[in-house]
Amino acid sequence: MNIQHGKPVSEGIVIGKSFLLESESIRIPAKYITENHIDNEIQKLKTVMKEVVDELHRFADTLAKTTSPKIAEIFVGHAGMLEDDSLREEMHAAIKEKCFTAEFAVASTMRRWRETFSKNDFLQKHVPDLDDLERRLLRHLTGHEGEDISNLQDEIVLVAHSLSPMQIASLDSDKVKGIVSEGDGPTSHAAIIASAFGIPAVVGAENITRRVSGGESIIVDGTNGHVIVEPDRETCLRYSSRSRKLQESERSLLEEMRDLPSKTQDGRRIFSLVANIESPKATAKALDYGAEGIGLYRTELLFLDSERIPSVDEHFHAYMEAINKLDGRPIVMRTLDIGADKLWKLKPDLEARESFLGLRSLRYCLKNPDIFKPQLRAILKAGAYGNVSLMFPMVSGVEEWEEALKVLDDVKSDMDAAGEDYDPDMRVGMMIELPSAAMCADALAERCDFFSIGTNDLIQYTLAVDRAEKDVAGLYRPEHPAVLKLIKLTVDAARKAGIHVGICGAMASSPLFTPLLIGLGLDSLSLAPPQSLPRIKKIIRSIKFSEARQLAARVLEARGPDRARELLMEVNESLPDSS
Ligand code: PEP
Ligand code: MG
Repeated sequence: MNIQHGKPVSEGIVIGKSFLLESESIRIPAKYITENHIDNEIQKLKTVMKEVVDELHRFADTLAKTTSPKIAEIFVGHAGMLEDDSLREEMHAAIKEKCFTAEFAVASTMRRWRETFSKNDFLQKHVPDLDDLERRLLRHLTGHEGEDISNLQDEIVLVAHSLSPMQIASLDSDKVKGIVSEGDGPTSHAAIIASAFGIPAVVGAENITRRVSGGESIIVDGTNGHVIVEPDRETCLRYSSRSRKLQESERSLLEEMRDLPSKTQDGRRIFSLVANIESPKATAKALDYGAEGIGLYRTELLFLDSERIPSVDEHFHAYMEAINKLDGRPIVMRTLDIGADKLWKLKPDLEARESFLGLRSLRYCLKNPDIFKPQLRAILKAGAYGNVSLMFPMVSGVEEWEEALKVLDDVKSDMDAAGEDYDPDMRVGMMIELPSAAMCADALAERCDFFSIGTNDLIQYTLAVDRAEKDVAGLYRPEHPAVLKLIKLTVDAARKAGIHVGICGAMASSPLFTPLLIGLGLDSLSLAPPQSLPRIKKIIRSIKFSEARQLAARVLEARGPDRARELLMEVNESLPDSS
């Protein structure tokens, strides 16, 4: 039995069978055939090509029905690459002219294509697609199974070095019951999506891929960050019973809390406990857990399609799916926050770079009005049918904010000219997730309807700690007084201007921080996953606002994050649900 510790990022306990997702390609040594085998080898390659193309189309069909037509189109695109004549001809030529085996012809041709793609700014981002295609072809040619997470037969616990957004988007959430990764950080996209799907997950589990070969039994405790490989019988029984108890207590807590208001003992009402969603499909679950609305709709998933920018109608239909379920409850739609860890496949002539300090998010949108404007138009249009607010991410200061508002005004003028319906009074707010925005919050509040503090980014930019990097995960401290001072500046500016201020980063969902955030004066908490909602509500209902304020004042004065954490732990231990 081997016990491993990592960062818990999505609550719950699962006991299952491990499935190792190998990140390295299958190794193909140089091998040659004699001339009389050339025809056979070409035929073998042709058969496998067809099998893979069919597999990709089948997978795309399932995804289109169960997940999203946009994600499905990625795999149709992959099939299209395999049908490309020049790729096939190059592989056939390697067999005919150099007497390579089919496997070696695939590996060497793909290596050459990868080299060409990596030197080209526009094609670089398709290198992972080539890797994926190569793995699929070689799997079929060599019979080496075990890496395909898109078409699983059994329930598994996925173990990986790290997971790309593409892999996460394609995994079958009915079959993947737990996730353990070595390289991802606590607010990486992998962690966010695992928690959105409610899959117990632990990240930053050192060397786990070396300890697992696939098929052994494994326990993932996404509440405490433990991973146990090949547990003994006694451990299995203990965790099964904990898992059952956890589920029972979650159910009864939900029943107890669902219809109660989220207010402190001395009567201050937290105006709303809302939820974060990544896809409109998650709306119903959020409401089931008692969310009063959606505090952050991350619209990025819609942009997965590389070849086409989503049209106004495509945006609008996705938004309407959420709005129809919400039945008048509020929803905050955030405009595209792409780049850095969320670098999706875009049309090849766009210049997104994988850097947290680069052309991401609002900066990217302002430079690409052909992407930005259709989305703004669809959000405005959706506002005519529901309680919709619009939110811009990554605002760095007043001038950038005004530039975004100007684009919004342009879109409204276009809609006026076209006689289209929209909500002219839509509330427009911004995420405060850069230190510069927090420090200029006074000026920003003047022309803004609400603030939503994005602590995932605010912490990373304040402390210079990459949020997706496990090697510095220990330095990622939400309770750092510098971060808390920026939150306080933001809340104070909002109070002065009389606007709403909420928080939608992962910090909002951690019970440890609930009394502090109440004491700092936040008006709303937007939580993910929605399962955390009853517990957070219970904490709010068990504390006094006056005491939470005193706590906040003391924590703000702490010398550093260790002392701040001690103060929070003391309070946490006295809370009803701190176990
Ligand atoms: C944040 O930065 O806190 C946030 C909510 O946005 P994202 O995690 O999507 O960057
Ligand atoms: Mg952010």
